[in-house]
Amino acid sequence: RPRPLVAGNWKMNGLKSSARVLSEVHAGYTPGLKAKVDLAVCPPATLVGAFAIQSVGSRVAIGGQDCHAKETGAFTGDISAEMLADAGASYVLVGHSERRQYHAEKDTDVCNKAVAAHRAGLTAIVCVGETREERESGRTLAVVKKQLRGSIPADSNSRNLVVAYEPVWAIGTGLTPTAADVAEVHTLIREELKRLVGKAEQAKVRILYGGSVKPSNAAELMAVENVDGALVGGASLVAADFLGIAGAY
Ligand code: 13P
Repeated sequence: RPRPLVAGNWKMNGLKSSARVLSEVHAGYTPGLKAKVDLAVCPPATLVGAFAIQSVGSRVAIGGQDCHAKETGAFTGDISAEMLADAGASYVLVGHSERRQYHAEKDTDVCNKAVAAHRAGLTAIVCVGETREERESGRTLAVVKKQLRGSIPADSNSRNLVVAYEPVWAIGTGLTPTAADVAEVHTLIREELKRLVGKAEQAKVRILYGGSVKPSNAAELMAVENVDGALVGGASLVAADFLGIAGAY
Protein backbone atom coordinates (compact mmCIF):
# COMPACT_ATOMS: atom_id res chain seq x y z
CA ARG A 1 0.00 0.00 0.00
CA PRO A 2 1.20 3.55 -0.69
CA ARG A 3 2.18 5.67 2.29
CA PRO A 4 -1.00 7.51 3.34
CA LEU A 5 -1.43 11.26 2.93
CA VAL A 6 -3.77 13.41 4.98
CA ALA A 7 -4.20 16.81 3.33
CA GLY A 8 -6.09 19.77 4.76
CA ASN A 9 -7.95 22.04 2.36
CA TRP A 10 -8.54 25.27 4.24
CA LYS A 11 -10.61 26.72 1.39
CA MET A 12 -11.24 30.48 1.88
CA ASN A 13 -10.35 30.44 5.58
CA GLY A 14 -7.26 31.62 7.39
CA LEU A 15 -5.45 34.80 8.34
CA LYS A 16 -1.93 35.57 9.56
CA SER A 17 -3.15 34.63 13.03
CA SER A 18 -3.76 31.08 11.75
CA ALA A 19 -0.02 30.46 12.11
CA ARG A 20 -1.03 29.26 15.57
CA VAL A 21 -3.06 26.38 14.09
CA LEU A 22 -0.10 25.38 11.92
CA SER A 23 2.18 25.44 14.99
CA GLU A 24 -0.21 23.08 16.74
CA VAL A 25 -0.13 20.75 13.74
CA HIS A 26 3.68 20.77 13.82
CA ALA A 27 3.68 20.07 17.55
CA GLY A 28 1.23 17.20 17.20
CA TYR A 29 3.05 15.60 14.25
CA THR A 30 4.91 13.26 16.54
CA PRO A 31 7.60 10.80 15.44
CA GLY A 32 5.00 8.03 15.75
CA LEU A 33 2.62 9.83 13.40
CA LYS A 34 5.46 10.78 11.02
CA ALA A 35 6.31 7.11 10.70
CA LYS A 36 2.79 6.35 9.48
CA VAL A 37 1.38 9.23 7.46
CA ASP A 38 2.33 12.27 5.34
CA LEU A 39 0.65 15.58 6.15
CA ALA A 40 -0.06 18.52 3.86
CA VAL A 41 -1.84 21.80 4.54
CA CYS A 42 -3.35 23.80 1.67
CA PRO A 43 -4.08 27.30 3.01
CA PRO A 44 -5.37 30.22 0.93
CA ALA A 45 -2.75 31.59 -1.47
CA THR A 46 -2.07 34.57 0.80
CA LEU A 47 -0.62 32.21 3.42
CA VAL A 48 1.29 29.72 1.25
CA GLY A 49 4.63 31.55 1.53
CA ALA A 50 4.43 32.16 5.26
CA PHE A 51 3.23 28.62 5.98
CA ALA A 52 6.02 27.14 3.87
CA ILE A 53 8.64 29.13 5.77
CA GLN A 54 7.02 28.18 9.07
CA SER A 55 7.03 24.50 8.05
CA VAL A 56 10.72 24.21 7.13
CA GLY A 57 12.07 21.21 9.00
CA SER A 58 8.63 20.03 10.11
CA ARG A 59 7.90 17.57 7.29
CA VAL A 60 4.45 19.14 6.93
CA ALA A 61 4.07 19.92 3.23
CA ILE A 62 2.27 23.01 1.98
CA GLY A 63 -0.01 23.18 -1.03
CA GLY A 64 -2.02 25.65 -3.06
CA GLN A 65 -5.74 25.25 -3.78
CA ASP A 66 -5.68 26.09 -7.48
CA CYS A 67 -3.27 27.31 -10.16
CA HIS A 68 -3.41 28.81 -13.63
CA ALA A 69 -2.29 26.67 -16.57
CA LYS A 70 0.21 29.28 -17.83
CA GLU A 71 3.50 30.18 -16.18
CA THR A 72 3.14 33.97 -16.44
CA GLY A 73 1.06 36.51 -18.33
CA ALA A 74 -1.83 38.95 -18.36
CA PHE A 75 -4.17 36.96 -16.12
CA THR A 76 -5.16 39.40 -13.39
CA GLY A 77 -5.83 37.72 -10.10
CA ASP A 78 -4.47 34.33 -11.11
CA ILE A 79 -1.52 32.46 -9.65
CA SER A 80 0.75 30.10 -11.57
CA ALA A 81 2.04 26.74 -10.40
CA GLU A 82 5.56 28.18 -10.65
CA MET A 83 4.55 30.94 -8.21
CA LEU A 84 3.25 28.37 -5.74
CA ALA A 85 6.45 26.37 -6.07
CA ASP A 86 8.50 29.54 -5.63
CA ALA A 87 6.53 30.30 -2.45
CA GLY A 88 7.47 26.88 -1.09
CA ALA A 89 4.47 24.73 -1.99
CA SER A 90 4.95 21.14 -3.03
CA TYR A 91 1.31 20.28 -3.74
CA VAL A 92 -1.61 21.96 -5.50
CA LEU A 93 -5.26 20.96 -5.57
CA VAL A 94 -6.73 21.01 -9.06
CA GLY A 95 -10.33 20.49 -10.11
CA HIS A 96 -11.86 20.76 -6.67
CA SER A 97 -15.65 20.58 -7.05
CA GLU A 98 -15.95 24.17 -5.81
CA ARG A 99 -13.68 25.28 -8.67
CA ARG A 100 -15.65 23.13 -11.12
CA GLN A 101 -18.93 24.56 -9.78
CA TYR A 102 -18.18 28.25 -9.13
CA HIS A 103 -15.50 28.81 -11.77
CA ALA A 104 -16.90 26.53 -14.46
CA GLU A 105 -13.72 24.45 -14.68
CA LYS A 106 -14.00 21.59 -17.14
CA ASP A 107 -11.95 18.40 -17.24
CA THR A 108 -9.67 19.90 -19.91
CA ASP A 109 -9.01 22.95 -17.71
CA VAL A 110 -8.20 20.67 -14.78
CA CYS A 111 -5.90 18.60 -16.98
CA ASN A 112 -4.06 21.74 -18.15
CA LYS A 113 -3.64 22.86 -14.53
CA ALA A 114 -2.26 19.44 -13.58
CA VAL A 115 0.22 19.70 -16.48
CA ALA A 116 1.23 23.12 -15.13
CA ALA A 117 1.68 21.66 -11.65
CA HIS A 118 3.98 18.97 -13.05
CA ARG A 119 5.93 21.51 -15.10
CA ALA A 120 6.54 23.46 -11.87
CA GLY A 121 7.61 20.36 -9.96
CA LEU A 122 4.45 20.19 -7.85
CA THR A 123 2.33 17.17 -7.05
CA ALA A 124 -1.19 17.72 -8.41
CA ILE A 125 -4.04 16.52 -6.22
CA VAL A 126 -6.68 15.95 -8.91
CA CYS A 127 -10.19 16.02 -7.45
CA VAL A 128 -13.15 14.12 -8.86
CA GLY A 129 -16.60 13.23 -7.56
CA GLU A 130 -20.25 12.97 -8.45
CA THR A 131 -23.14 15.26 -7.47
CA ARG A 132 -26.13 14.00 -5.52
CA GLU A 133 -28.22 13.94 -8.64
CA GLU A 134 -25.60 11.90 -10.47
CA ARG A 135 -25.44 9.40 -7.63
CA GLU A 136 -29.19 9.11 -7.35
CA SER A 137 -29.49 8.44 -11.06
CA GLY A 138 -26.87 5.67 -10.86
CA ARG A 139 -24.23 7.53 -12.85
CA THR A 140 -21.48 7.76 -10.20
CA LEU A 141 -19.00 5.36 -11.80
CA ALA A 142 -19.51 6.75 -15.30
CA VAL A 143 -19.07 10.34 -14.06
CA VAL A 144 -15.91 9.60 -12.10
CA LYS A 145 -14.42 7.60 -14.97
CA LYS A 146 -15.06 10.46 -17.41
CA GLN A 147 -13.53 12.99 -14.99
CA LEU A 148 -10.44 10.83 -14.51
CA ARG A 149 -9.90 10.32 -18.25
CA GLY A 150 -10.34 14.03 -18.92
CA SER A 151 -8.46 15.46 -15.93
CA ILE A 152 -5.33 13.34 -15.50
CA PRO A 153 -2.47 14.25 -17.83
CA ALA A 154 -0.36 11.65 -19.62
CA ASP A 155 2.83 12.71 -17.83
CA SER A 156 1.46 11.63 -14.43
CA ASN A 157 3.23 9.23 -12.10
CA SER A 158 3.03 8.25 -8.44
CA ARG A 159 5.22 11.19 -7.36
CA ASN A 160 3.44 13.98 -9.19
CA LEU A 161 -0.15 12.75 -8.96
CA VAL A 162 -2.58 12.18 -6.10
CA VAL A 163 -6.25 11.52 -6.85
CA ALA A 164 -8.94 12.73 -4.44
CA TYR A 165 -12.43 11.27 -4.60
CA GLU A 166 -14.84 13.78 -3.11
CA PRO A 167 -18.55 13.13 -3.63
CA VAL A 168 -19.98 16.64 -3.96
CA TRP A 169 -22.98 15.78 -1.77
CA ALA A 170 -20.66 14.72 1.08
CA ILE A 171 -18.71 18.00 1.17
CA GLY A 172 -19.54 20.11 4.19
CA THR A 173 -22.80 18.23 4.77
CA GLY A 174 -21.89 15.71 7.45
CA LEU A 175 -23.03 12.98 5.04
CA THR A 176 -20.60 10.27 3.98
CA PRO A 177 -20.93 7.36 1.58
CA THR A 178 -20.93 3.87 3.07
CA ALA A 179 -17.63 2.04 3.22
CA ALA A 180 -18.90 -0.19 0.42
CA ASP A 181 -19.68 2.82 -1.79
CA VAL A 182 -16.24 4.32 -1.15
CA ALA A 183 -14.61 0.98 -1.93
CA GLU A 184 -16.50 0.72 -5.20
CA VAL A 185 -15.37 4.14 -6.44
CA HIS A 186 -11.77 3.80 -5.22
CA THR A 187 -11.49 0.41 -6.92
CA LEU A 188 -12.72 1.98 -10.15
CA ILE A 189 -10.13 4.77 -9.78
CA ARG A 190 -7.37 2.19 -9.23
CA GLU A 191 -8.49 0.32 -12.35
CA GLU A 192 -8.58 3.52 -14.42
CA LEU A 193 -5.12 4.48 -13.19
CA LYS A 194 -3.80 1.30 -14.78
CA ARG A 195 -4.59 2.70 -18.21
CA LEU A 196 -3.70 6.28 -17.33
CA VAL A 197 -0.30 5.84 -15.64
CA GLY A 198 0.52 2.18 -16.26
CA LYS A 199 0.24 -1.00 -14.29
CA ALA A 200 3.40 -0.75 -12.19
CA GLU A 201 2.98 2.94 -11.35
CA GLN A 202 -0.73 2.90 -10.45
CA ALA A 203 -0.19 0.78 -7.34
CA LYS A 204 1.86 3.62 -5.83
CA VAL A 205 -0.55 6.48 -6.65
CA ARG A 206 -2.39 7.67 -3.56
CA ILE A 207 -6.17 7.88 -3.75
CA LEU A 208 -7.66 10.10 -1.04
CA TYR A 209 -11.23 10.19 0.15
CA GLY A 210 -12.74 13.60 0.95
CA GLY A 211 -16.11 14.81 2.20
CA SER A 212 -17.10 15.27 5.86
CA VAL A 213 -14.07 13.40 7.19
CA LYS A 214 -13.88 13.81 10.97
CA PRO A 215 -11.90 12.10 13.74
CA SER A 216 -15.02 10.06 14.53
CA ASN A 217 -15.40 8.52 11.06
CA ALA A 218 -11.77 8.58 9.86
CA ALA A 219 -10.82 5.09 11.03
CA GLU A 220 -13.72 3.48 9.19
CA LEU A 221 -13.12 5.43 5.97
CA MET A 222 -9.34 5.01 6.03
CA ALA A 223 -9.67 1.24 6.51
CA VAL A 224 -11.44 0.90 3.15
CA GLU A 225 -9.47 -0.83 0.44
CA ASN A 226 -7.68 1.61 -1.90
CA VAL A 227 -8.20 4.57 0.44
CA ASP A 228 -4.71 5.97 0.89
CA GLY A 229 -5.57 9.02 2.94
CA ALA A 230 -8.00 11.87 3.30
CA LEU A 231 -8.65 15.32 1.89
CA VAL A 232 -10.11 17.23 4.81
CA GLY A 233 -12.02 20.51 4.65
CA GLY A 234 -13.68 21.88 7.77
CA ALA A 235 -11.97 19.57 10.25
CA SER A 236 -8.53 20.62 8.99
CA LEU A 237 -9.06 24.10 10.47
CA VAL A 238 -8.81 22.66 13.97
CA ALA A 239 -5.38 21.15 14.65
CA ALA A 240 -6.66 18.54 17.10
CA ASP A 241 -9.26 17.31 14.60
CA PHE A 242 -6.80 17.26 11.69
CA LEU A 243 -4.28 15.34 13.79
CA GLY A 244 -7.05 13.06 15.06
CA ILE A 245 -7.86 12.11 11.48
CA ALA A 246 -4.18 11.48 10.71
CA GLY A 247 -4.04 9.38 13.87
CA ALA A 248 -6.70 7.05 12.46
CA TYR A 249 -3.81 5.29 10.68
P1 13P B 1 -15.34 18.96 4.30
O1 13P B 1 -14.31 18.08 4.96
O2 13P B 1 -15.55 20.25 5.01
O3 13P B 1 -16.59 18.20 4.01
O4 13P B 1 -14.73 19.39 2.87
C1 13P B 1 -14.19 18.40 2.06
C2 13P B 1 -13.44 19.06 0.95
O5 13P B 1 -14.02 19.67 0.06
C3 13P B 1 -11.98 19.00 0.98
O6 13P B 1 -11.43 19.40 -0.22
